Formats: sequence, structure tokens, C-alpha cells
Amino acid sequence: MKNFMYYQPRSVESAIRLLDSSWGRTELLAGGTSLMDLLKENIAAPERVVSLSGIPGQELNHITRDDEAKVIGIGARVEISRIAENSVLRELFPGLTAAAAALGSPQIRNMGTLGGNLCQRNTCWYYRDPHVPCLLKGGKKCFATEGENQYHAIFTKGHPCVIVNPSSLAPILICLNATAHARSPQGERLIPLKQFFQAPSKAEQREHVLAPNELLTRVTIPMSGLKNAVYEIRQKQAHDWPLVQAAVSFRLDGGRASQVSVVLGYVAPTPHVASAAAQSLEGKEINETTAAEAGRAAVDGAAPLSQNGYKVKLAEVAVKRALLIAAGANRYWEA
Ligand SMILES: Cc1cc2nc3c(=O)[nH]c(=O)nc-3n(C[C@H](O)[C@H](O)[C@H](O)COP(=O)(O)OP(=O)(O)OC[C@H]3O[C@@H](n4cnc5c(N)ncnc54)[C@H](O)[C@@H]3O)c2cc1C
Ligand code: SF4
Repeated sequence: MKNFMYYQPRSVESAIRLLDSSWGRTELLAGGTSLMDLLKENIAAPERVVSLSGIPGQELNHITRDDEAKVIGIGARVEISRIAENSVLRELFPGLTAAAAALGSPQIRNMGTLGGNLCQRNTCWYYRDPHVPCLLKGGKKCFATEGENQYHAIFTKGHPCVIVNPSSLAPILICLNATAHARSPQGERLIPLKQFFQAPSKAEQREHVLAPNELLTRVTIPMSGLKNAVYEIRQKQAHDWPLVQAAVSFRLDGGRASQVSVVLGYVAPTPHVASAAAQSLEGKEINETTAAEAGRAAVDGAAPLSQNGYKVKLAEVAVKRALLIAAGANRYWEA
């Protein structure tokens, strides 16, 4: 690991002042569960590491409820285990708490934070191998497109880098119409979570749209009464990322669904908004038949790589089951 200067500022303003105008020279440190790996492998080699651990106060560290504005705020430094265990979040956003509870392992959940989860680098094994100079490390080619791509994207959308976005919390936050609050020397910027992610294709880009001198302070979620759920399929039940995840939300009036969102995780370089699946459910009951139709619509247009065709069926089934869970149906597959 390369030596670096370690800073522990006492305010968001001081932290922002320490950040840089380009990526690479300075890294923010939250729980360290992702960044430490990259430092040890020399994939990240910053001159400065700016820890968020010394910043007190509500903005970064608390889960807040504003009944007047009908909004829940979650600080970027709130640990994933606190999200999983929060009773208010569990009542309003069971999809979010379920995704948090299934994430990684107890150790990862206790150290990892919301901000780190949304800003973590991807898990492509070529990217994580310090000896492989792929596109995201300034190289000339993507090694996954013609290599070992069983965990990569099935909706590549023409992007030269075929990673999957690594966050389990992102798809459900998008379904819940969450907003990211970012601060930089220019002030505060509000970014709808749906627009927070991007598909990187070179070393100068990240998996999100924050600028190098921008800090995610919190995420707000409207309390709008949407039913919501996630369903994920994992090869290992712990200590790994899901193979596929489906997140859904909808309003249910008189048994009919409206304002439907379906977002797939681990199938594309950004969380994949499955608009056709959502559209297929508007005004309909959510039942075995309509949920299965939505599952099929969600994978329409998938273009798997040489080794990940299996993900298409997983995604179809995950959408169907997430919809049935959110609608309160019997989870017959658990019997
Ligand atoms: C074995 C294992 C299993 C895992 N399984 C899952 C899983 O199932 N689902 C899943 O979603 N994730 C999974 N993860 C990833 C884990 O969720 C992340 O490592 C964790 O959420 C990162 O949070 P952190 O606070 O430790 O971030 P750090 O490691 O401290 O930071 C990660 C990145 O985010 C940046 N960052 C941190 N905070 C901010 C901020 N406030 N503003 C701007 N940038 C910031 C850092 O600069 C760094 O680039 C797993 C990780 C491991 C090691
Ligand atoms: S998928 Fe992206 S990160 Fe992985 S080898 Fe290709 S360019 Fe690199």
C-alpha cells in the first residue's frame, strides 16, 4: 500500500476543502470495507485519505423523520446494520431494510455505510486484479467482454465496460423516489437517485455522477405510502453480492396497482429501470399471472454475454417474486 496523509476533519465544510478537483489524489473514507481493499491492492493509491469519522451531527450520522415534509432522511455515514434494524424504516420501506439485512455479512453491515454503499467501486474481478490494465484503469480494452463474464451485465446497452452496479440499496432507493444530497464548495446539489449512477468507461470516471470534490451527505426518501419489496438471488447466502436483485414499488388502490416502479440490480452497469415491466402492471391487480408477465417484460431486450445467460431467467423470477411479496401474497417458494 502506498503511504498517504490521513485527515480526520471535524465538519463537512473542512472535509470538502480537503477534496480534490480530479479523481485519484484524494479518497473519502467512511467504513473502509470497500476502500481498504482497493488501497491494499494498489488499485486506489491516493496521496490523501479523508475520514468522515470525526464529523459529528445529525446530517451525516442520523436517521431522521420529518412528518411535516413527509420525508425520511438517512445520513451518509449511517451504518447498513442501523438501516436494517430501524423499526420506522422497516414499517415504511420493508424493501430497503430487507436489502440492508441481506447485504454482505454482519461485519460488513456494521462497518459499511449508506454513502460508501452507493459510492463503492465495482466488483469486476479484472478491475480488482492489480495486474489487469482494463479500461477503468487507463487500459485499452475490457477483458470481461470476451473473458470470464458470468457475473457481468446482461443489459450492456453498448457500454464498453460491462460491470454491474454493485449496490444492493440503490434499486429500492430508486423505486422509492429517493434523493441524494451532495455538498461541494459550490453548495448543495440534489440528485434524484435515478440519476445518481452512470456507466463508467475510463479511469477518470466513477460509477456515480458525484464530482471529485463532492461529498454525499444524506439520502431523503418521501413517505408516500408505496408498497415496496426486494427479492434477490444469491449463490452464497452471505459474504458476497447477489447474482440478481429486483426491487419494486407501487400504490395499491382498490386492489389495482398504480405508480409502479421495477428496478433490477446486478444486471447492468447502472441499476436497470424496467419501464416496460412497470407499465404492464398499471391499473391491474398484482397476482401470479400479472407478476409473471411483468417478469417477462423486465428481461425483454436483455443481451447476455457468453457466460451469463442464466441471469435472464433469474431476473424474470426475481421481479415476479418481489411483486408478490410487496402485494402481500403467500411466499409459496419458501415452503
Ligand atoms: C465480502 C463483501 C460482501 C459484500 N456484499 C455486498 C452486498 O451484498 N451488497 C452490497 O450492496 N454491497 C456489498 N458489499 C459492499 C459493501 O456494502 C460496501 O463495501 C460498503 O457499503 C461500503 O461502505 P463503507 O462505508 O465501508 O465505504 P468505504 O469503503 O469507506 O468507501 C467506499 C467508496 O465510497 C466513497 N465514499 C464513502 N462515503 C462517501 C460519501 N459520503 N460521499 C462520497 N463518497 C463516499 C469512498 O471514497 C470510496 O470510494 C460487500 C462487501 C464485501 C467486502
Ligand atoms: S467490465 Fe469494466 S471493470 Fe471489468 S474488465 Fe471490463 S472495463 Fe474493466
